[in-house]
Amino acid sequence: MATQGLSVSVQDAICRSVETISDEMISWLQDLIRIPTINPPGENYIAGADFIGRKLKQFGYDTHYIAAEGMAEHTPEHPRVNVLGRINGSQPRPSLHFNGHFDVVPVGAGWTVDPFGALLRDGKLYGRGTSDQKAGIAASIFAIEAIHRAGFRLHGTIEQSNSVDEESGGFAGVAYLAKHGWIGKDKTDYVIITEPSDVDRVCLGHRGVYWFKVTTHGRIAHGSMPYLGISAIDHMAEFLHGVTHELKPALATRKTSVPVEPPGSRYASINVNAVFGGQPEVGTQTPCVADRSGAIFDRRFLSEESFEQVRGEIHTMLEDLQAKNPDFKYNIEDLMIVHPVHTDENCKLVTTISDSVETIFGRRPKLTASPGTYDQKHVVRIGSVEQCIAYGPGILNQAHLPDEYCLIEDVVNSAKVMALTAMQLLGAEEVSSKR
Ligand SMILES: [Zn+2]
Repeated sequence: MATQGLSVSVQDAICRSVETISDEMISWLQDLIRIPTINPPGENYIAGADFIGRKLKQFGYDTHYIAAEGMAEHTPEHPRVNVLGRINGSQPRPSLHFNGHFDVVPVGAGWTVDPFGALLRDGKLYGRGTSDQKAGIAASIFAIEAIHRAGFRLHGTIEQSNSVDEESGGFAGVAYLAKHGWIGKDKTDYVIITEPSDVDRVCLGHRGVYWFKVTTHGRIAHGSMPYLGISAIDHMAEFLHGVTHELKPALATRKTSVPVEPPGSRYASINVNAVFGGQPEVGTQTPCVADRSGAIFDRRFLSEESFEQVRGEIHTMLEDLQAKNPDFKYNIEDLMIVHPVHTDENCKLVTTISDSVETIFGRRPKLTASPGTYDQKHVVRIGSVEQCIAYGPGILNQAHLPDEYCLIEDVVNSAKVMALTAMQLLGAEEVSSKR
């Protein structure tokens, strides 16, 4: 067992306190799941923020509601409201910030239980957003409360932010909080994002994303005399041929040393998200050579690849096609750029939470990285906080599925891990009288 510098009796007291509080935690989590904070479009965000904020206040946090003023998506119909709570310790630093998003993806088809019923059956809690990631929110809030109820006070600052729009990029959520100074290296030392990592894994970061759109241009002509026109679709076909037969095989040879899970995602990749052009699919067709075609691409890149190299490679392919055929006209547009992030596995946050996982589960966690991206990019890129990870009780492969669930046992165990980690990172003193 990892001893962590906390005495065994203190560890036991904390774990017992989490167990004592667990029924209260799960029942609160059920109520949170019953609020359908669906994104898109961003429903019931005020109700969600208010529900969490009231609990934070009751647990002694100084609470702030932070609306994403000035953001286009913050509308009267679908306001974007985040909530943040802070408990100052006897000293301001270090500070540990837990962040969890309370938006959930739409329900989708195939459910056999009520997606917002929060059914508890055989140790599983069902509902949209259980694993991804309301269970993580409950675990971090009740983990800290368990410390207090065990009669301890943390030395450093503890913060909990619960944010919106993670599922659509997090711009009115964590990005907004980081941009407006609520999360940043001048005040924040450690960030734990409570996304589903599987309860005995710690996620250190994610790969990069480059979404771009290529449009090819041709010249319209009668379809019975296509030689009089220039087909934009033929041009797109040539580019797609290059993507499939040259770029994809090249990317499949590039492997990252970062432990991305699942391992298939350790290679660079590209996916064609959409192809369009020529005449609309619905409606009457007329014989025309297509003068315009477009496609949208999703390129996932590794920390070993520079973004300039990633983008340059695409530009070179297009320039080569133009060099071979002066009629090949195109333009390219960047739609989204997310740089890879990867927290150092030897930093204090990672070693401390790893020790806590070992204390609770008897084994070191697997350190992983995510094939997709999540709010860590904003914490690291905008907030410049170096020590940021994802750790939470949700089951990663349950995210976005029908009949999504999380295991009660995992919520309780992850709360223990979070509590021990907070004790260790911030330091604590016994204030005797138990609440
Ligand atoms: Zn999530």
